[in-house]
Amino acid sequence: MTNVDIATILSRVADLLEFKAENTFRVRAYRNAAHTIGNMVESLARLNEDSGRSLTDIDGIGADLAAKIQVLLNTGRLPLLDELEKAVPSGVFAIMRVPGLGPKKVKLLVDQLGIDSLEGLEAACRAGQVQGLKGFGEKTQAAILAAIAFAKSPEHSRTLWNDADSTVQILLAWMQTCPQVHQIEAAGSWRRGRDTVGDIDILVECDGTRESAQAVMNHLHEWSEITAVLLSGDTKTSVRGPQEIQIDLRIVEHASFGAALQYFTGSKEHNIRLRSRARDRGLTINEYGVYRLAGQGEGGESELAGKVGESLAGKTEGDVYRAVGLPWIPPELREGGDEFLLAERGKLPVLVTLADIRGDLHMHTTATDGTATLGEMTRAAIERGLEYIAITDHGKRVTMAHGLDAKHLLKQWAEIDRLNASLAEDGAPSLVVLKGIEVDMLEKGGLDLPDDILEQADWVVASLHYGQSQPRARITERIIEAIENPYVSVIGHPTGRLINRRQAYDVDIEAVIAAAARTGTFLEINANPWRLDLNEHHAAAAKQAGVKLVISTDAHATSGLGMMRCGILQARRAGLESRDIANTQTLTALQSAMKPGGASR
Ligand SMILES: [Zn+2]
Ligand SMILES: [Zn+2]
Repeated sequence: MTNVDIATILSRVADLLEFKAENTFRVRAYRNAAHTIGNMVESLARLNEDSGRSLTDIDGIGADLAAKIQVLLNTGRLPLLDELEKAVPSGVFAIMRVPGLGPKKVKLLVDQLGIDSLEGLEAACRAGQVQGLKGFGEKTQAAILAAIAFAKSPEHSRTLWNDADSTVQILLAWMQTCPQVHQIEAAGSWRRGRDTVGDIDILVECDGTRESAQAVMNHLHEWSEITAVLLSGDTKTSVRGPQEIQIDLRIVEHASFGAALQYFTGSKEHNIRLRSRARDRGLTINEYGVYRLAGQGEGGESELAGKVGESLAGKTEGDVYRAVGLPWIPPELREGGDEFLLAERGKLPVLVTLADIRGDLHMHTTATDGTATLGEMTRAAIERGLEYIAITDHGKRVTMAHGLDAKHLLKQWAEIDRLNASLAEDGAPSLVVLKGIEVDMLEKGGLDLPDDILEQADWVVASLHYGQSQPRARITERIIEAIENPYVSVIGHPTGRLINRRQAYDVDIEAVIAAAARTGTFLEINANPWRLDLNEHHAAAAKQAGVKLVISTDAHATSGLGMMRCGILQARRAGLESRDIANTQTLTALQSAMKPGGASR
């Protein structure tokens, strides 16, 4: 069981409990646990095997939940879920995944219209039956149809990078226990750090004998997470792994390992350009290596012949790129854009790394919808080696998350003052906690807290959570108004997209970027694996316009701080360097780079 499997099961339990209108605290406990575990980098299975530690060490996991997780880890099943599933029609799960349809609304659809599948829901919407239900209306019905169409498209069924990564990590650990494995790497879109991943590509080098190759492939087939073997050849096998993801494993020779890694990392567009560059130099590149084209120029097209002429390179990726006169290109840049031009001119960016990050400037606590207290978040940030964090709970508009009004916010800030004082007691403080807030851009314009409060903040994130279906001009206007507020430091998740779930709202992102550049407001790369917002194209455009970006986790639990790596990948794919990211700087440098605003700055 991977963390993602466990999180999926717990969130399914939460949905079903809510569907059955059970105790809201119980529902919330399961949902929070699912959230926490889904965001954890360390595998629960491994933690559980460590006799010195307990599952209850994790925030929000009490004895009861820990016992259930133990059952899951030991047996792969959860009796409570089996019981709940018996009581609820199976098609109802698919309906519950439609954005905007919580378990309560779904219950209404089931009880009143007898809908028990996505197809049934689509038909009822088309027949205009849904808009008549209490709490639905014409707009909701149209939104449901749009959401169904969105979810049906194949590009929205790819696995989130973070989920694929948790499979990749335990898969690599398992394969490394096979004595015949000499070298192993995961390639494909996982290695390029794409926000979603189709299949997982694994390359293994062994001693080159048939027996070893078979032993390696058998070892994969014996992995407990495999649900089906799809293909089994001499040097390649395909299996279905956790979360239905397909895993392709290839056996590769020592002399070809770099060429294969380059080839199977892709992207397709990048490789097409690389091959054409090779051809221009009388060479050919394939998954085995780089070769001189025999009889080149005599019409003897030898591309299809595979190995031709003398092998020039193949052992490492660096050798492959060098053979065509280029430096090694980081996988995140291999999308067939301007990477060849940059490489040729020696202008490849020195991409930002996780180690460059000094602070995390967007996170929530139990004061609103987080699951860890201020103290717990602070300790977790210190353990991660951060130098500063901003606590940015929701403003009062976000009623669902018990958003803070001025009075409660000032109380939290007083608590932060005391915390900072105690952190500073032994000389140099290990961490500074900034007094922040995530204010909401109201539907009618303006923010949900007054300027005289924001003026006292160290850090203000402004986000748009409501009125996302307003027209483009109106949404753009709301965001630019927030950007022009002197106290707003950064715009949070600027386009509001949720990968595989929800389209970005309609916004003139160029106008937003221009306004940010004009006022010195930062733009966020939200590192939450569902968001990754700004996306890589917008982040690159922001850099072009001279806007500084901030990579923040928007953590709602201590484990959420670990999602920084997803934001880093996104920034790398945008070609961003350390100097493009404001939170790679010291706190003093960050504060002097902020736009002039609050008196406390
Ligand atoms: Zn938000
Ligand atoms: Zn947030």
